[in-house]
Amino acid sequence: MRDSTPDPTNEHSEQHVPGGENNRAGCVMRKRSFLLLAFALAVAIWVVLCFIVDCRRWKELAFPAAVPSPSPAPTLAPTLEPSLVFSSSLLSQQPQAYVRDVCEYLRQRWDPARSAPGTVVVAIMFHSVQEGGLYRPGDTFMPAEELTRTVRVAQRLGFQTITAAQLADFLEHNARIPPRSMIWIVDDRRPDDVEDYFLPIARDNGWTVTLGWIIGDTDHRKGLWQRMEDMNASGHLDVQCHGYAHRYIAPDTPEGVIRQELFDPIPILEQHFGQKPVAFVWPGGNFTPRAIEIAREAGYRLAFTSFSRGPLMYNWIPLGEREQEVGDPLMVLPRFWARPGLAEHLRTAAEVAEAAAAQALKDYPREAEYYRTVCDSELAPPR
Ligand SMILES: [Zn+2]
Repeated sequence: MRDSTPDPTNEHSEQHVPGGENNRAGCVMRKRSFLLLAFALAVAIWVVLCFIVDCRRWKELAFPAAVPSPSPAPTLAPTLEPSLVFSSSLLSQQPQAYVRDVCEYLRQRWDPARSAPGTVVVAIMFHSVQEGGLYRPGDTFMPAEELTRTVRVAQRLGFQTITAAQLADFLEHNARIPPRSMIWIVDDRRPDDVEDYFLPIARDNGWTVTLGWIIGDTDHRKGLWQRMEDMNASGHLDVQCHGYAHRYIAPDTPEGVIRQELFDPIPILEQHFGQKPVAFVWPGGNFTPRAIEIAREAGYRLAFTSFSRGPLMYNWIPLGEREQEVGDPLMVLPRFWARPGLAEHLRTAAEVAEAAAAQALKDYPREAEYYRTVCDSELAPPR
């Protein structure tokens, strides 16, 4: 047990302080003055901090019981939080939503006449196809056997192709498309590959192949327009625009050049293929914010880069930082590169789509509640 008697060895013990009552009173006074001074100093610091920082926060810290934390602002309805933009660990990029009117988005998302949640599109960028070529990383051709394997996997997974106009309707309004869709885009001018590989695949499967066509010197290539028009008559081609002369668009590209690349091909393609292009494939994958404005002015509804970011869903586009900066996701759509391993991207896209559909069902009650209270209407039930 501890002894309560004063410790004779303690030099601060009163019994051992020489000098009597006066000294003791002086000591007490000095202590009190010191404490008062310290307290005044603390209050002064506190007051100054109140003004400098945030008075309420300091009050809360000092008097937690006296200042109740502010009650949350009354909300009329639950809000859609960012977590409701479905994300997947299978993707390297965070997808971007782009439909600004939440009520419109929810109505289109659950409308039974439109695509069901989890409907996915795999956009693919093709260049040439080579028979038995040794593929090295960075090559732009697709080995023929890989193309065949991709078709087999696509068939097995139930993928079908859509055109650029169908993709635009889907991305803009969630129009109905096959639940697992692809858009095959063959860049540049590859009449031989289109005739030898892509068109036969399209015919066999009832698919379409989208061409990113460059006007260039097509007029001076004997019979080329006619050949393409004949192939287009099969109903399996979907000719879109890849520029007038395939000039890369950089920040210092003159506006006249950008306008020529974007505007001039439109009437020419319309004349030869009977449809106005709705999609622009950026030459070399290069774009600028100004070029995107001009593309919109020209009436394009979609444009593709050559970034490989992930599959596409309604109001859900995986974009890198460069594309996010321009603030118009539909004009900087990513595409998977056609190279060995493409079939695996189809499998991944199918998995992402299934997860998105499952998440949508979980989110439905909350979205329906939001729609009821904010949009003043009833959401269609999930399918
Ligand atoms: Zn090109």
